[in-house]
Amino acid sequence: MTREPRKKMSLGFFGGFAVTLKQVGEPRVTTPYPDEKVAKPPRLHGRHVLNRYEDGMEKCIGCELCAAVCPADCIYVRGLDNPPDAPVSPGERYGFVYEINYLRCIHCDLCVEACPTEAITESKMFEFSFTNRSDAIYTKDELVVDDDGLPRQLPWEDWRPGEGDNTSGWMRATSPSGAVEYEGEVQWSGELGYGVRPPEGGQSGNRDDEATGNISIRTVERDKISRRFGGKVRGT
Ligand code: SF4
Ligand code: SF4
Repeated sequence: MTREPRKKMSLGFFGGFAVTLKQVGEPRVTTPYPDEKVAKPPRLHGRHVLNRYEDGMEKCIGCELCAAVCPADCIYVRGLDNPPDAPVSPGERYGFVYEINYLRCIHCDLCVEACPTEAITESKMFEFSFTNRSDAIYTKDELVVDDDGLPRQLPWEDWRPGEGDNTSGWMRATSPSGAVEYEGEVQWSGELGYGVRPPEGGQSGNRDDEATGNISIRTVERDKISRRFGGKVRGT
């Protein structure tokens, strides 16, 4: 080996230490996970829920569009005619069987976008692991929100405060399909326990939080993001 490449190699070796030393004294961006979790953004795709209307009726009408669009083929739905005396949903039919196989789900949210009634949306909780395959297949009873409109918390799931809020965050963010003229327009129905949720703040010049009651897209503290993006952390 010639002298030149060897010099370059040693520079690269000590250069690695230089990167480490530069970070000493910088604000910490890590947390002692899983004891402490960072707050999740309102659009995060976590474990699904099946929503209900404000009067308690289920939103799912058993149309199977979510199952048809799912790229991982992990949703199984069977619809049934609503019993006339005790309808489960306001439609003709309701979701009689509903299952999601979480060994296959990739949390793409295509099911959420395909659903015509906003029945299926996602919570912010993704810390769930199983010791057998049958626990990974969530049934309708596990997915439908409880009488307060909150996700049911199963023994193998690690829920933290706030992870059951904003379950329709992604659906509300994408419902105008990116069309600026619909920004801030409510195009969804009310939810049990929450009523009609406010629109998410948009990204265009049309954004007017005071007039629309928008909520902000995310709040990130400056000492947690890179200087390149307007934060305080040096480096990447
Ligand atoms: S999030 Fe994507 S992969 Fe998961 S059930 Fe929905 S469509 Fe299927
Ligand atoms: S969750 Fe939505 S798309 Fe899926 S079956 Fe129910 S109503 Fe249809």
